[in-house]
Amino acid sequence: MIPIFDSKRQYAQIGEAAEKAVCEVMRSGSYILGANTKALEQELADYIGCKYTIGLNSGTDALHLALRALDIGAGDEVITTAFTFVATAEAIGIVGAKPVFVDIDADTFNIDPAKIEAAITPNTKAIIPVHLYGQPCDMDRIMDIAKRHNLHVIEDCCQAIGSSYKGQKVGTFGDFGCYSFYPTKNLGTMGDGGLLTTNSESLKDRVIALRNHGGAVRYHHDEIGVNSRLDEIQSAILRVKLPYIDEWNTKRRERASIYNELFAGCEDIITPKELDNTYCVYHQYTVKVPNRDEIFDKLHDAGIGAMLYYPIPLHLQKVNAHLGQGKGSLPITEKNTEIVMSLPMFPELTREEQETIASTLIKFVEESKALV
Ligand SMILES: *Cc1c(COP(=O)(O)O)cnc(C)c1O
Repeated sequence: MIPIFDSKRQYAQIGEAAEKAVCEVMRSGSYILGANTKALEQELADYIGCKYTIGLNSGTDALHLALRALDIGAGDEVITTAFTFVATAEAIGIVGAKPVFVDIDADTFNIDPAKIEAAITPNTKAIIPVHLYGQPCDMDRIMDIAKRHNLHVIEDCCQAIGSSYKGQKVGTFGDFGCYSFYPTKNLGTMGDGGLLTTNSESLKDRVIALRNHGGAVRYHHDEIGVNSRLDEIQSAILRVKLPYIDEWNTKRRERASIYNELFAGCEDIITPKELDNTYCVYHQYTVKVPNRDEIFDKLHDAGIGAMLYYPIPLHLQKVNAHLGQGKGSLPITEKNTEIVMSLPMFPELTREEQETIASTLIKFVEESKALV
C-alpha cells in the first residue's frame, strides 16, 4: 500500500533526535509550560513572521480560543467555508455563535471572496478563511472586505504552515492564525498540539489566560477558561522537526510538479491550480476526476491510499442541520465534494511510487470513460 502520508519514513530522519529530546524532557521533571514550549513559541514566531505565538492543545482549541479572545459568542455570526475539516465550524458552535457558510472558488477550493459580502448581516463579527490543502486564500480581497465591514479575521492555517501570500506567511494577515500539529500535518508532533499566532499584545495576553483556566497569575481566575496547554514533550519534538519544515515543504512542491507532469496528457484529471503570488505547501495534492467514487475504490484495491477530503460538506452534516443551509445552497462546494480526491503526498514519496500512482489512476479514468 502506498499511504497518503507515512510517519514512519519521517521517523527514520528525525527519530533519533526526537528520542533524545523526549528523554531530556522526562529527566528534567518539567512537563507543562516549561523551557521547550517557551523556546518553541519564539522559534515559531520567528519562522511565521509574527510578534507572538501561543502553544495550545490542538488546532481546534486555537480556533475556539481565538473566537473567545475576540469576545465572539451567542447572537454573533461568523462567515466561513463548508469545504473544510469539521473543526473550523465546530469552534464557532463551541462559543455559541452561528457559522454562515459561503461557497468556494472552484479552482482554489477556498472561500470565494466575491460571495462574502452578500452573507454579511448586522450580526456578523468575523470571517474564518481556511487555507485548504496548503493553498493560501486571496488575503488582499478578504482583508479589504473585513476592513470595510469592521470584521475580525481568524485564519485557519492548520494545513498551511509555511504557505505564503505575496511573500507574507499565512497566519499574519488577520487578528489570529490557527495552526495544528496533528501528526499528519506538514509540521506534526507525536500526539496533539496547536498554536495561535497574533501581532496583538492584548490578544496574546488574553489567550495566555484562557488556555490556563482564565488567569495569567496562578490561582487568580478572571474568567472561565480551559485547560489547553502544549506540553513539553510535544514542544521538544516540534523543536527537532521545525528546522526541516522548509525542506519538507519544498519536497512536497517538487512532488506536486511531478504529478502535474505525469497527468499533463490526461485531460480528464484536473490538477490543482495555484494563484499568482502565492506559495502553496501542498498539505494535500487534490485532483478532480470523473466517476470519483468508483475510481477511488479501485485505487484502494490496487494498493493506493487516496483519500477524500471532504466527502460531506459541513452545511450538510447532521450537526449543522439546524442552521438551515440545505442542499443546493452551496453548489460549487457540493459539486467539489463529489469529484475531488487527494493522492499520496509527503516529502519521502518516491518518483517510482508517483509513477505507479499516476499510471494506475490514468488507466482507471480511461477505463471508466470507455464504459459510458
Ligand atoms: C486539522 C485541522 C483542524 C483541527 O486541528 P486539530 O489539531 O486536529 O484540532 C482545523 N482545521 C483544519 C482545516 C484542519 O485541517
